[in-house]
Amino acid sequence: MVAPRQIAVLGATGSIGGSTLDVVARHPDRFRATVLTAHRNAEALAALCATHRPRLAVIADPALEGELARRLAAAGVRCEVAAGMDAIAAAAAGPLCDTVVAAIVGAAGLDSSLAAARAGKRLLLANKESIVMAGPLLLEALRAGGGELIPVDSEHNAIFQCLPGGRPGLAQSGVRRLILTASGGPFRGRSRAELAEVTPDQACRHPKWSMGRKISVDSATLMNKGLEVIEAHHLFGAAPEAIEVLVHPQSLVHSLVEYVDGSVLAQLGNPDMRTALAHALAWPGRVEAGVPPLDLAAAGPLAFESPDLATFRCLALAFQALREGGDAPAVLNAANEVAVEAFLAGALPFLSIADVVEAVLTELPARRVVDIPTLVERDRAARAAARRVLRNAC
Ligand code: NAD
Ligand code: MG
Repeated sequence: MVAPRQIAVLGATGSIGGSTLDVVARHPDRFRATVLTAHRNAEALAALCATHRPRLAVIADPALEGELARRLAAAGVRCEVAAGMDAIAAAAAGPLCDTVVAAIVGAAGLDSSLAAARAGKRLLLANKESIVMAGPLLLEALRAGGGELIPVDSEHNAIFQCLPGGRPGLAQSGVRRLILTASGGPFRGRSRAELAEVTPDQACRHPKWSMGRKISVDSATLMNKGLEVIEAHHLFGAAPEAIEVLVHPQSLVHSLVEYVDGSVLAQLGNPDMRTALAHALAWPGRVEAGVPPLDLAAAGPLAFESPDLATFRCLALAFQALREGGDAPAVLNAANEVAVEAFLAGALPFLSIADVVEAVLTELPARRVVDIPTLVERDRAARAAARRVLRNAC
């Protein structure tokens, strides 16, 4: 019998973290959650530890280490406890796991994704922001570490499944285009005038997927699709012109690969992240994911349309950053994180998210990506620029 995979779930208390643990718990003979991490919610992390019995629990906020330890002791859970972002990265690279589910939200996930890559782990990447920021450096770390990256983002997981043997060069495989589907989010079909006053709760009410608040806002602005275009460029070596976005409101076709002979392969399934996670955990095998079978007869017609780039400008800005190259995607990502946070706090109108991102891209023209420290410095500069734009706007 093969020993179970030892899995670190970074961002265990989040939406992807919960879906991962659901799949893991279905297959105790194949998977064990050995490391669980969270940002500040010590109560939720301790509860997950009581259920999944990891060997290590890490809380990002060092001030909460004592509370986590107390809660674990009260629940009778015996596991190591650590705190801080460095401890999360160390756990991702450490001996307690062979597989890392990178499910922290935002640039905060970069260090631990890199650490897992350098250490040669199987990296299940949900944290798209880390590859958008540091694509070439993350891929270099993976090569150096000798591990493997299996995409968890549903679109990239779909493309991975539709490519021969995962990811050889696209040209050699006869691939003409990658077609990323987008649900269109909660505001599909609305005009700019209709979007002027929308609230964070409306933006987070996604019609098909249940997700964390940051990615939900990104889905509403279509920045999520923009980040995914950049992610696809890095993961599959696709030129910007070879990546197309197609709005598909039913969210059953998760993406498509078009070949030069006219064949188009698609991956379909219910909109439930457990499918992609089960695929990535078990690859190259398959395991049951707890997802009901797709009933196409009951699903009704499948629709497809082009995205409205004039209304949802964030998608156009992401393509622009990708074409500019260098660190423009990192600047785009940082500005977007600040703008989305301001929108969620009620301090920025929905349509101004794109304005903030555009202003920061203009203020900080692309530079060559040199190394992680320069990139992190650039991320800081872009955040500072975004905050200045916010102050001037309000
Ligand atoms: P979420 O907000 O539900 O969960 C985020 C997790 O990260 C939580 O466990 C939180 O404690 C942790 N976290 C947040 N900030 C942190 C910090 N500064 N330091 C350490 N830990 C921190 O988010 P989510 O929806 O699960 O998304 C996670 C990632 O996966 C994002 O990058 C998102 O784009 C990506 N993703 C999510 C989905 C989805 O369906 N939810 C789909 C595709 C990709
Ligand atoms: Mg996605």
